[in-house]
Amino acid sequence: MSTTPRCPSCRRFVYLDTLVCPACGTEMGLQVIERVFEAVHAGRTVVDGVTWFTCSERDWGCNWLVREDAPAGRCSSCRLTRRRPDADDTIALEKLATVEEAKRRLVLQIGDLGPPIEGWYQKPGGLGFDLLSSRSDGEKVTIGHANGIITTDLAESLDDVREAVRVKLGEPYRTVLGHLRHEAGHYFQNVLITDDATWSRCRELFGDERESYRDALNRHYEFGAPQNWSDAFISEYATMHPWEDFAETFAHYLHIVGTLQTAAAIGIHLEAGASTLRDTDVEPREDYGDQSVGRTLSDWAALSQAFNRVNRSMGLADLYPFTITPPVQRKLAFIHEIITRARLTTAEQVELALAPQGDERN
Ligand SMILES: [Zn+2]
Ligand SMILES: [Zn+2]
Repeated sequence: MSTTPRCPSCRRFVYLDTLVCPACGTEMGLQVIERVFEAVHAGRTVVDGVTWFTCSERDWGCNWLVREDAPAGRCSSCRLTRRRPDADDTIALEKLATVEEAKRRLVLQIGDLGPPIEGWYQKPGGLGFDLLSSRSDGEKVTIGHANGIITTDLAESLDDVREAVRVKLGEPYRTVLGHLRHEAGHYFQNVLITDDATWSRCRELFGDERESYRDALNRHYEFGAPQNWSDAFISEYATMHPWEDFAETFAHYLHIVGTLQTAAAIGIHLEAGASTLRDTDVEPREDYGDQSVGRTLSDWAALSQAFNRVNRSMGLADLYPFTITPPVQRKLAFIHEIITRARLTTAEQVELALAPQGDERN
């Protein structure tokens, strides 16, 4: 689903996280199923006889709407947050809005791609987020994924801290959204792969995830990635352990189809010859679910080269400083296949997003 988000009053483009239209001052909320902004007055709006309320976390920057019959005043993204820092950790709380914004983008994208999201409050092992802070007194934060819960360190969303970690880990690219997409990969590996045949194909591509994680971690931090890592891996970190390879590749799949979707919504079109990689026009699509991975990656190769040119003309580093080799292509194809296979119908998605069962307040 799509397309360019617009102000309900003046019809100008607005960013996904907009609360008030910068052009005409209309206060607005996002109805996530149809992806349309509605004008809100006193925290509510009525559309076709149905009342929608603004999410109770609006003071934290959440602009989603909640339907009148939803079981909670928080939207389906905010309900996924299980823990957050203490009220007196003001530095961390300042960053909470930033991470929640990236999380809403992730949740919207998963909704578009179609695999099911079941919350931590709906079933054991369901998806949840502990958004904590290593700056809070006495809190040791172990970032990562365990049993459905994604833990992130809000201190790391401070730009200087994230940049220091990025340089230390030798990563060309590290953002809050990228981090969440990576951790979501850990969660979805177990959700999307459920039968032995698919697991064995996964192991052929990524390696056997049952090998010791601790040994792999020690090895990685002592010796780093092997010399020729880029032949078969999307990043150095992906060489660490098969779990990390899957998560890194999953995150890249989300980067690729998410950015293609945005390019399509903007109406970007590359003429033949505008890229060194295609001699036909490139018309990105908002949805690649019914396309081959070959088409997806071919569009992306041309588009990412164009975006790199844009960045270089501003003196910035490349938007997409990665090379997709044939082994990485096969891994991306596998992820494309298992995500597409798990696709829910629109009605099922509506049900999940608007009326998730269960109560997170206990
Ligand atoms: Zn407007
Ligand atoms: Zn919300």
